[in-house]
Amino acid sequence: MATIKENIQEVHRRLAKACTDAGRPAATVGLLVVSKTFDAAAVREAHAAGERAFGENYVQEALDKIAALADLRAGIEWHLIGPLQSNKTRVVAETFDWVHTVDRLKIAQRLSEQRPEGLPPLQICLQVNISGEASKSGLPPQEVPALAAQITRLPRLRLRGLMAIPEPADTIDDQRLPHRQLAQLLRSLQTQGLAVDTLSMGMSADLEAAVLEGATLVRVGSAIFGSRPAKP
Ligand SMILES: *Cc1c(COP(=O)(O)O)cnc(C)c1O
Repeated sequence: MATIKENIQEVHRRLAKACTDAGRPAATVGLLVVSKTFDAAAVREAHAAGERAFGENYVQEALDKIAALADLRAGIEWHLIGPLQSNKTRVVAETFDWVHTVDRLKIAQRLSEQRPEGLPPLQICLQVNISGEASKSGLPPQEVPALAAQITRLPRLRLRGLMAIPEPADTIDDQRLPHRQLAQLLRSLQTQGLAVDTLSMGMSADLEAAVLEGATLVRVGSAIFGSRPAKP
């Protein structure tokens, strides 16, 4: 079985190839290592292999891991990529560097009010329900411009861009469509005058499609750590 380090190298090879195919410099795409369900030792291994940005889905699991890795804290960026309920905003505002899953003003207001003064602004992506699935979280694309404008006025947040989890598709052409739509939405915010620069899209199965459409941060878990246990 390949080691975490070997898997990371393979993901970087895939990203480099996708960047070449897209005619983009490799440095324009960042890797967010998704460590949900894997333990602090696995994160430590990925960190030793050179990774610095980690994504977690479940707040309590993340807090335990962040505490276990306190010695690395200054060199790690922690990103929340799972759903955020309002009763968890305070601890998230106090602990994380990024939140990718903001989809309503109330959550953003709480995060801004609760972000400690001593920390840099919390980096925010709006989660967009780009495939229009009833079950998925994220806001409808047509509601993005108004919420984005409101969030840029909150003092302790910095709106960075958009995040999506498109419906899985088998062919790269089918995978590209929702990523293209998210990229268009980001461009429309830029046209609106907002200084946004981040497209958080692409996972283990579709990172090539995402890079071809302009992803700046791909979120990769299973291609690095192996498959996750099925949820009980
Ligand atoms: C789990 C997860 C990922 C990583 O998915 P893989 O298919 O394991 O690469 C990326 N983004 C989000 C929001 C996730 O929940």
